[in-house]
Amino acid sequence: MRVDRITTNDFEKIVPKKPLLILPVGATEAHGVHLPLGTDTFQAEFVANAISEKMENVLVAPTLPYGNHSSLKDVPGTINITFDTLRSVIIDILESFIDHGIKRILVISGHAGTSHMAAITEACRDIVSEYNVKVMFVSDYYIGSSEFVYDGDGHGGMLETSRMLAIHPDMVKKERPKGKFISADGMILRDASACIPDGIVGDTGKASSETGKRMNDHLVDTLIKMIREDLK
Ligand SMILES: [Zn+2]
Repeated sequence: MRVDRITTNDFEKIVPKKPLLILPVGATEAHGVHLPLGTDTFQAEFVANAISEKMENVLVAPTLPYGNHSSLKDVPGTINITFDTLRSVIIDILESFIDHGIKRILVISGHAGTSHMAAITEACRDIVSEYNVKVMFVSDYYIGSSEFVYDGDGHGGMLETSRMLAIHPDMVKKERPKGKFISADGMILRDASACIPDGIVGDTGKASSETGKRMNDHLVDTLIKMIREDLK
């Protein structure tokens, strides 16, 4: 059930049933010439909605469509919020849900950048130290990639292109670019875009909607198992 589509009365009736709240976190970030800026938002939202269709007693919060970025921060269309802003907004949103009685929370991030993940992790840690609630935080990117992805695939690559072909094929352009990740070998770069010179990482020629559907199904099933084990 989507929080933005129910009324205050509906919300009030659901809370005593101790629903799981899923907060999808997306991004507005350049994803190569072939994928839309909202790729991470669409992926996280798809997973959250699929879980709520397969499980009872799940509320899906409106998606946060912005994240914290480094490598692609200056590429046209990437909208960056700072580490502190991201950490604060996650705390504010979760605290507000907790004030309204929510006790079980899953935060799913479509974007998986290091500082972005660290900001949300810190926010979730603050929440569990302050309140008697259960919080799980995962990036669907990692759950999907552990089973399916080949070495050398990454941002905007085979995995993300396949998933978007399965979720929103109308938004995927015909180009199938290739790109490499160049390690900075520990150097802190002023312009981290040097690590992703092609704007994407991987060979999108290997992408297919069938692979994307298998990945999406796999990660929805995996997350449902994780929820049943740890977010009861
Ligand atoms: Zn992405």
